[in-house]
Amino acid sequence: MKNIPELFGSMVFNENVMKERLPKEIYRALKQTINNGVSLDRDVADIIAAAMKDWAIEKGATHFTHWFQPMTGITAEKHDSFITPGKNGSVLMEFSGKELIKGEPDASSFPSGGIRATFEARGYTAWDPTSYAFIKDGTLCIPTAFCSYGGESLDKKTPLLRSMEAINKQALRILRLFGKDDVTRVVSTVGPEQEYFLIDRDIYKKRKDLVYCRRTLFGAPAPKGQEMEDHYFGHLKPRVSAYMKELDEELWKLGILAKTKHNEAAPAQHELAPIFTTTNIATDHNQLTMEMMKVVAARHNMACILHEKPFEGINGSGKHNNWSLSTNTGENLLEPGKSPHENAQFLVFLCAVLSAVHKHQDLLRISAASAGNDHRLGGHEAPPAIISMFLGTELAEVLKSIKNDSDYTGMKKETMKIGVTALPQFPKDSTDRNRTSPFAFTGNKFEFRMVGSADSVACANIMLNTIVADELQIMAEKLEGADDFLGAVNEVVKQAITDHDAIIFDGDGYSDDWVKEAERRGLLNLESTVDALPHFIKPENIELFKRHKIYNETEVHARYEIILEEYCKIINIEGLTMVDMVKKDYTPAISKIQRCLCDTLIAKKKVSPDIPCKAETVKLDRVAALADKIFETNNDLDNALKNVPKGDVLTRATYYRKTVCPLMEELRRHVDEIEADSDREFWPVPSYGDIIFSIK
Ligand code: ADP
Ligand code: MG
Repeated sequence: MKNIPELFGSMVFNENVMKERLPKEIYRALKQTINNGVSLDRDVADIIAAAMKDWAIEKGATHFTHWFQPMTGITAEKHDSFITPGKNGSVLMEFSGKELIKGEPDASSFPSGGIRATFEARGYTAWDPTSYAFIKDGTLCIPTAFCSYGGESLDKKTPLLRSMEAINKQALRILRLFGKDDVTRVVSTVGPEQEYFLIDRDIYKKRKDLVYCRRTLFGAPAPKGQEMEDHYFGHLKPRVSAYMKELDEELWKLGILAKTKHNEAAPAQHELAPIFTTTNIATDHNQLTMEMMKVVAARHNMACILHEKPFEGINGSGKHNNWSLSTNTGENLLEPGKSPHENAQFLVFLCAVLSAVHKHQDLLRISAASAGNDHRLGGHEAPPAIISMFLGTELAEVLKSIKNDSDYTGMKKETMKIGVTALPQFPKDSTDRNRTSPFAFTGNKFEFRMVGSADSVACANIMLNTIVADELQIMAEKLEGADDFLGAVNEVVKQAITDHDAIIFDGDGYSDDWVKEAERRGLLNLESTVDALPHFIKPENIELFKRHKIYNETEVHARYEIILEEYCKIINIEGLTMVDMVKKDYTPAISKIQRCLCDTLIAKKKVSPDIPCKAETVKLDRVAALADKIFETNNDLDNALKNVPKGDVLTRATYYRKTVCPLMEELRRHVDEIEADSDREFWPVPSYGDIIFSIK
């Protein structure tokens, strides 16, 4: 049995290591930087860098890297070794404060959405001291932000940090009004539950679609899928269990609080949840978690599939983004309080979220928009593409009473008057769960379930922090000038509920009725990435981001371009992969099937012209007709991919969605139909059954 407390964080330059290794005044200066954003002296940085280097070398590191999160959605690193030439051909191991604080990777190949012209191609990376440095694979990794020379952010960390500042500022204004003078900082917290699939690596390698696209582009359903629901929370197979154990250990070494692991609904699907932390660190940790999931899987001869919808007809994977706000005094601002006064404060924050989600459905939808997630949202197991909010019966009743100035009959069946001044203590509604809601209140936090499993959680939390900050600002402005504070609170809360309760929905989010009902309520139903993204660059959204200093106009446009550009690239690769698989794998196999049927027919006729041949003729007819359709559709797809219109990125993305995707779907249908009907030995790739039941 390993000593877990000793293992935990052993590869992290964390608080304990800093305290132990840094001179007192240096440690204090660094804490000032971490807590209050005070910039670091070069001399101080030199001492920190030297201490980091000594620590890292003791742990076996030879290199360092500025670890950053460009707009590709994954992390980037460029390794430099610590060596510098010494005397007489020797080397010294060095690492300066300058190297710690700032890096200049030649990063011209990262997407910048046009921000970085080639003449100023180099961006720079800047240390984010709020996220600890760590050692991964013999390299000291320094979490950094990535910016252009003009100072525009080219990554996901910078706007996330900015959004954390924005919500801190506005939440503090509200707390001051409630007399919470001891609170000096409010942080948004996140615990992202990560879903993933594990399959055998030998099988994985035989599927070009999985290798190139991380999802299957073809595949007839297996006789058994997830209908028995015998996988969810089921016992762990030994191979999976060994994998999870090793993964936990790797994550613990990196100081990641991996906590819960279990089997998910679909065969071969699993989940890992960490204990929540600040949004910035949770985002860094989630990126590391996804990376480690793949690395450890390879060691166990498995492949970890993070795609949102790797298999048709089987649950996709999401990332439940559990989000809340907490103070440096340890108070969770989304926890209903014990007294009427505390509940007034809770209601202000709750209503800020309510208004924010209703007003900015588009931005939340955008934060979960990707080519992969388009297959999941609106599928039967995933939240629909419509944003709504679930509060639980109890809380929804409380809000209704406030709106109607009516008496609230609580759980105890006694009538209580709901002015905020006399708000009762309402029970936590944690048992009341609605798994179909994209945005659910779960007792003391909100769970945003739309985020895709492969995506960074940065964008979702940038949006959440920004839109809630904006509502808190609006409320603060109304409350700060009020003579009768509690009266004003009452009014603000009531107004929010009256204006925005159309977003509250407690029913079945997967039903067709909801789509109609949502339309009647005027809620947005942005079905795909292409439908959602144009909202990003609406003037009011650009103003919102500018108001809170999250993005300037150039940065919003750059992100809009990058997301749509990535969408086009993904579908293009998927289309090309399909064409390639049809030409090189499926067509030869289908020819063999027909050949075999013909041979059988001829042989039978030779034996006797009267011998019954219905099985062969009918099947041959069917396969031959499908073979022709496959040939034609594949040609059409091939041509469609060769004739992508020139023009702006939205035109191209729309073309992929409207012209290319339907051809891909049609092609798949024909191929799957033959697969369902064909001999096992002729089929050139592992079947769905082979894949999803590959871990014995
Ligand atoms: P579930 O029933 O959805 O699995 P859990 O209580 O296990 O709910 O929590 C799921 C995730 O929510 C975990 O990652 C947990 O750390 C996180 N979480 C709990 N409290 C908070 C909070 N205040 N802020 C953010 N995330 C939280
Ligand atoms: Mg959950």
